[in-house]
Amino acid sequence: RGPAETLRAPNPVDVSFEFFPPKTPDMEARLWETVERLAPLAPRFVSVTYGAGGTTRERTHATVARIRRETTLEPAAHLTCVGATRDEIDAVARQYWDAGIRHVVALRGDAPADSGAYAPHPGGYGFAADLVAGLRRVGDFEVTVAAYPETHPEAPDAATDLDNLRRKIDAGATRAITQFFFDPAVYFRFRDRVRAAGITVPIVAGILPVTNFGQVCKFAGACGAAVPDWLGQQFEGLDRDPETRRLVAATVAAEQVRALQAGGVREFHFYTLNRADLSFAICHILGVRPPAGSPPAPEATP
Ligand code: FAD
Repeated sequence: RGPAETLRAPNPVDVSFEFFPPKTPDMEARLWETVERLAPLAPRFVSVTYGAGGTTRERTHATVARIRRETTLEPAAHLTCVGATRDEIDAVARQYWDAGIRHVVALRGDAPADSGAYAPHPGGYGFAADLVAGLRRVGDFEVTVAAYPETHPEAPDAATDLDNLRRKIDAGATRAITQFFFDPAVYFRFRDRVRAAGITVPIVAGILPVTNFGQVCKFAGACGAAVPDWLGQQFEGLDRDPETRRLVAATVAAEQVRALQAGGVREFHFYTLNRADLSFAICHILGVRPPAGSPPAPEATP
C-alpha cells in the first residue's frame, strides 16, 4: 500500500468518549474544546453522564442536545432509575426522542451519598433491565448498558451479576460498556465468561486514563474495581509533578490498551473526565487518526 492509502485506511478500532455535563461556563468552554479536539477521531458515539439522583437532568439534556445540534457526532444520553417514577423517566426519554437523540446508556444509578443502600423508588424502574424495557416502549432507542468485569459490588456473586447482564440484553440492550479496570487479564476473563454464557453483544472496554491517582482510588473503592499495587507504585512521589504524572499516565494506559488490542479488543470507551489530551494520545497509539487532510487538531496549531 502507498502512503496515501495507508492514510485513508479505516481506523483499526472503534472508540467512544464519555463526558460529564459542565456546571459552569468555564467548564462548558473546556468541555467544548475537548469535544472539538476529539471529534476528528470519528468516535462511534459520545455519551454524557447523568448525575446521581437525576441532579444533572437539565444539564445532561442541554449538553447532549448541543452535541446533536452543533456536531456530526452521535450523542448518547445516560439515564438512571434513581429518585423518579416510571412516568417521570419516560417523560425524560420522550424529550430525548423528540430532540432527535436515539441512543441511551441505561443505568440503575446509585443511592445519593449518605442515604444508605440503593432502594428502588416506589413506582420507579427498579433496576437497569427494567429501564431498558421501558425505554424500548418509549422509542426505538439504541440502548447501551454497564457491565462489571470485577462484578458489581452489590451482586451476591459473579454468576448472578452475569445473569443480570443477560437480562439487560434480553430486554433490548445491544452493547455493554465495562466499568474501568486496569489489568487486561481481568477483561479477558470476563469476556470469556460472557461469551461462554452465550451473550454475543460487544463488550466495550471502559478505559479510565489516570490523571489523578488519589481520585482513581476513590472511584475504584466505590465501584469495586481493583487498583493493582504496580499502578500505585507508578505514581509514587509524583504528587507535585503533574508533567511526569501525565507522561506516566500515558505510558500506563498505552500498555493497557495495546495488551487489549493484541487480545482482539476492537471497541474502547474512554472516561475522559472532560479532558482530551490523554484520550487523544491513547487513541493515537491505538492507530485512531483524524482523516487525511483534516486541519491540525486545535492544540497542535503552532
Ligand atoms: P443494574 O444492572 O441494575 O445492577 C445493579 C445491581 O443490582 C447489580 O449488583 C445487579 O446484580 C443487581 N440486580 C439487578 N437486578 C436485580 C433484581 N431484580 N433484584 C436484585 N438485584 C438486582 N451512574 C450514574 O449515576 N450516572 C451515570 O451516568 C453513570 N454512567 C455509567 C456508565 C458506565 C459505563 C458504568 C459502568 C457505570 C455508570 N454509572 C453511572 C454507575 C452505575 O449507575 C452504578 O454502577 C450502579 O451501581 C449500577 O448500575 P447498573 O446499571 O449496572 O445496575
